Amino acid sequence: MSKISRRTFNKKLTQGMAGTALLSGMPLACGMGAEQSDKKLGIALVGLGSYSSGQLAPGLVDAEHCYLAGIVTGTPSKASQWMKQYNIPKENVYNYENFDTIATNDAIDIVYVVLPNSMHAEFCIRAAKAGKHVICEKPMAVSVAECDAIIEACEEAGVKLSVGYRMQSDPYTNEIKRLVKDKVYGSIQYVSSDAGYISRGNPGQWRLNYALSGGGALMNMGVYSIQSNIYGTGMNPISVSAQEFSTRPDYFKDTDESITAQMEFPNGVVGHMFTSHNANANRLFCSFERGWAELNPCHNYGPLKGRTSDGKEISFPHKSQQMLQMDDFAKHIKTGSTNFAPGEMGKRDMIIVEAIYRSIKEGGKTIPLDLGTMGIVS
Ligand code: NAD
Repeated sequence: MSKISRRTFNKKLTQGMAGTALLSGMPLACGMGAEQSDKKLGIALVGLGSYSSGQLAPGLVDAEHCYLAGIVTGTPSKASQWMKQYNIPKENVYNYENFDTIATNDAIDIVYVVLPNSMHAEFCIRAAKAGKHVICEKPMAVSVAECDAIIEACEEAGVKLSVGYRMQSDPYTNEIKRLVKDKVYGSIQYVSSDAGYISRGNPGQWRLNYALSGGGALMNMGVYSIQSNIYGTGMNPISVSAQEFSTRPDYFKDTDESITAQMEFPNGVVGHMFTSHNANANRLFCSFERGWAELNPCHNYGPLKGRTSDGKEISFPHKSQQMLQMDDFAKHIKTGSTNFAPGEMGKRDMIIVEAIYRSIKEGGKTIPLDLGTMGIVS
């Protein structure tokens, strides 16, 4: 790829037969020898807030298939500190204005957008247009329409897209998926999941500002409950109805505080979820015909903990979920292995989020969903 920019190359791919193969999931390496499977892919983090600094950058230190190659930040003092701490060369440092020139930087293979939710679409689309593979933090965007725009931009540019759903690479999550799929305790009948914490911080934070967050607890923690209800049944819901509870309206002026939702799944399976910015909650419970499985805690950075009705412990050695997630995506790019959190999964969850908000607005009305197997990755 020395004589042709990645952007032009990717665009050519999507226009030809190889592009068709690429969009259908064929490995890049197999199609054109574009990515060498022994090369670590360079990731640039966009937004150096608490998640990037506390989880993603440390996760990348130990990653096998990718490394922290660049940063995009609006704060010059952060740039110098990160360059020193992670040995990042000056030419791999960008700000929000000159970000698009990243297109000509071959050291950056993947752009990881870790900004407030309402900024995800803009930066993911700019990254795709620059010819870079994209990881978009959760929630994927603030509307289904924005998810569509991100997916379209990535398809048009011929780049791969993934959502920052770290749980999809976590061994505990995958053990639940296995119990459901293999019917170890019979068929799933009921699933319940909770995700929340008590927010008492700065009332001016972006998570409580609708314009930046697109919503409160549901957008922030609720997507975890939606996800675990889905991998806890192996199916997408066919309808949802929801209620909102507000006890601290002075603090949660602009965004939702607590939400419960009931989901109906195929085969009469029932689901329940709770999400909150005013209650600590972190659990998944799956009830099968002949037993149950529980993860508690279920959604945090780990170590997680699980058990089953026959007294078994679900237990795995602890590894950084973020490292596993970014390695899985890098492997997907290099070898065509499974993309555990594709864009369709993020869009599907946003369809459910919009249905939940609509149900609340319409007094708890049951909203039908027609998702088929969209975003289900087994
Ligand atoms: P944060 O507030 O700590 O960092 C946000 C970053 O965006 C900061 O570097 C800030 O300078 C920058 N920024 C740029 N424009 C901004 C603006 N107008 N207002 C506020 N900040 C602005 O947030 P965070 O916790 O790092 O979250 C960032 C993203 O990562 C969010 O989408 C969040 O949902 C996601 N996240 C995901 C996980 C996970 O487990 N997957 C965990 C935490 C956060």
